[in-house]
Amino acid sequence: MGNLKSKFWQSIPSRTFYTERQPTESSTKRLALQAKLGVSIQASLAAFIDRSACPVSCAAEQILAVFIQERHALSLRENMCGSNVFLRVLWLFLCRAIASCSPLTADRQANITSMLGQQADRVMALGEWEERWQQNKIGFHQPEVHKMLKNNIDKVLNGRTGVRFFFPLCGKAVDMKWLADMGHSVVGVEISEKAIRQFFEENNMTYTEEPVPAIPGAKVYKNSEKNISLYQCDLYAFSSSIDGQFGAIWDRGSLVAINPADREKYAALIISLMAKDCRYLLETLLYNPDLYEGPPFFVPDEQLHSLFGSSCDIELLQSVDAMTDLQRQWGLDKFTQNAHLITPKSS
Ligand code: SAH
Repeated sequence: MGNLKSKFWQSIPSRTFYTERQPTESSTKRLALQAKLGVSIQASLAAFIDRSACPVSCAAEQILAVFIQERHALSLRENMCGSNVFLRVLWLFLCRAIASCSPLTADRQANITSMLGQQADRVMALGEWEERWQQNKIGFHQPEVHKMLKNNIDKVLNGRTGVRFFFPLCGKAVDMKWLADMGHSVVGVEISEKAIRQFFEENNMTYTEEPVPAIPGAKVYKNSEKNISLYQCDLYAFSSSIDGQFGAIWDRGSLVAINPADREKYAALIISLMAKDCRYLLETLLYNPDLYEGPPFFVPDEQLHSLFGSSCDIELLQSVDAMTDLQRQWGLDKFTQNAHLITPKSS
């Protein structure tokens, strides 16, 4: 068993772990922490494998070890599966199944749930959102283009023109018009019909409306001249089979607005909508969730990494103190707005 274990660790080129990217000044601290964590995970798994008498569970733990250390997982996957798509998919399922049974994953989940405090079980029904629109309680809507989108648009576009943007939970964000005016196309999903109609009307755009055969009860509202299509439906009814994949995603008031218990489902959907070259700009909010029930909800960085880290690179682009009177009214003492750039690992 000891021999098998040492062969296994030797088969992994150690220089690929945590050292592929040159750390920037701002990420040095984070990288140091990750390295420490990586080493301690490796050490405890090695100890576990030593104790394990059963070859099957030993192999399972080895794969799990590789899965947790994503960079190892990638290099091993390349060696084992090459470009065979079937083997890659099988590999992914195997890793996920093992990882989800692991006590380590359960611990991590429990830790994240405890970080969410009272918000972990908070549920907002679709009808409540509709009510907010009907009563005009839409404090989340901003009349100006969002600063974080403006500040980071070059990083999102990365030199590309005519990009297909996806807006999950789009509301009537004026950011959609701003991007369409720059020649990009926009697809949004929003449950409230009132929000969608107001978007076109307030921006002086004509629109057509038609049913979406694949989603019972859904409609799509379009302005063809500007290339904007807004689907009125539950986000989870939407998929890449309806309108393809996207080269960019702007997620403002979306991951932070969905029910916290739905985050895994949400992340899986978003990943499935990302084209290979997709650049996903995500706003998260950091505050003490015990002081305010949300929405918007608190999304800890740890959870961001557990949701997207296995298939995507995550880079913190911007972090600002966004405390205003509104947050003081909510009872908060600190409120930070972060912008992350999330890109598929293979790109
Ligand atoms: N992104 C927008 C709106 C944020 S508020 C902005 O920046 O202004 C969240 C929006 O999501 C609301 O308009 C709400 O009606 C919509 N919504 C909430 N849950 C939804 C769901 N499951 N499917 C589709 N839309 C949803």
